[in-house]
Amino acid sequence: MDENKIMLSERDMPQAWYNINPHLPAPLNPPINPATGQPLGPEDLAPIFPMALIEQEMSMEPWIEIPDEVMEVLKIWRPTPLRRAFRLEEHLDTPARIYWKDESVSPPGSHKPNTAVAQAYYNKQEGVERITTETGAGQWGSALSFACQIFDIECDVYMVRVSYEQKPYRRLLMQTWGANCYSSPTDRTEAGRAILAENPDTPGSLGIAISEAVEDAAKNENTKYSLGSVLNHVLLHQTVTGLEMKRQFEEAGDYPDTIVGCVGGGSNFAGFAFPYVEEKISGQREIDIIGVEPTACPTLTRGLYHYDFGDTAEMTPLLKMFTLGHRFVPAPIHAGGLRYHGAAPQLSLLVSQGVIEARALRQNDVFEGAIMWARTEGFLPAPETAHAIRAAIDEAIKCKETGEEKCIVIGYSGHGHFDLAAYENYFSGNLVDYELPQEEIEEAEEYLPDIE
Ligand SMILES: *Cc1c(COP(=O)(O)O)cnc(C)c1O
Repeated sequence: MDENKIMLSERDMPQAWYNINPHLPAPLNPPINPATGQPLGPEDLAPIFPMALIEQEMSMEPWIEIPDEVMEVLKIWRPTPLRRAFRLEEHLDTPARIYWKDESVSPPGSHKPNTAVAQAYYNKQEGVERITTETGAGQWGSALSFACQIFDIECDVYMVRVSYEQKPYRRLLMQTWGANCYSSPTDRTEAGRAILAENPDTPGSLGIAISEAVEDAAKNENTKYSLGSVLNHVLLHQTVTGLEMKRQFEEAGDYPDTIVGCVGGGSNFAGFAFPYVEEKISGQREIDIIGVEPTACPTLTRGLYHYDFGDTAEMTPLLKMFTLGHRFVPAPIHAGGLRYHGAAPQLSLLVSQGVIEARALRQNDVFEGAIMWARTEGFLPAPETAHAIRAAIDEAIKCKETGEEKCIVIGYSGHGHFDLAAYENYFSGNLVDYELPQEEIEEAEEYLPDIE
């Protein structure tokens, strides 16, 4: 095909999300209640999540219909284009065909509203009036603010204090979409007050912000909590991207040999890749599925596959996942969305089974790839997305060496318009490459909960 982009019509959008649970090569270990050591029941989650999402979290149905009201909102920017990176191919002089599924075209500029919209809708259906969440750099907070604005739900975002102070633009985006954004720790919650009493100058952390958002939801009527990655229902909502992509490849008369995506909690990568996993497992297709993470936070490549908490304060259920330990404090790299200590249980299982490959890259190599991308393709990628781009470039260079005409597709999770300070750091030579010392991983082994 010689087109620059393959567009679907709204009529050709998938009508249902793909649930990978029934097709996993081994059963998923259930989430555990840390107080009892027993698997969680729906009633354990009911104080913080609406029932519809709890059902999706545990569902074994392979297809879950997308409600019309959600579809109408997704259509503001969906279907998104599948684009061909002709200019990058030419620059690399590679026989590989490089495509990218462009999730940067949504109002907040990333894949995150695919689940934010669905979550806001189900909360609204169950009479929830207010949603709380945490945010680091502000990508998730802004996506949820946008979704809550549409469904007329109040949205309270606990934003990690350093980011609140240093990254005002996404905070202003949240405000523009009508959300309240607080610098965490706050004096609104017990968790926040305790931290402030002990250390008034704390920079805050994602772990603290999660504790605040969960406490706020659990203690207040008609208030629920929302999470932007990791959980099964979040990955489910993201499969709209991979399902669209399948149809677009059919239209292009092509099929991916290699899928690359960046992994923070794993939701965008799972969305692109899970609809292809069944064909790989059943042996219908040979396909390399590669998740890319930073060397500074090498969850899938060097972490332990073990039950762990989702947050620092040990308030969440235990999930069996790859983890660097819930006390892990990642180095301050610029791909803020990739600095989580754990990874989605469904994705972790597939990595542990060898179905999905994981790779770690250094920040300077990643930004070099981002610049090459911007200078050939024109678009400015998010630092997170640039991890996938760099891995695709490496694969395309290999194709040049071997002469293989592979079809490579990049999960293009978002744009970098709010990340120019990171680019500035790269240009001025101030980006540091971090390798996580092995002792830190071994330390985690000591304090992980004693459940196999
Ligand atoms: C949040 C974010 C990520 C990482 O989150 P996942 O759940 O792993 O997808 C990646 N890219 C962008 C642009 C993001 O905003």
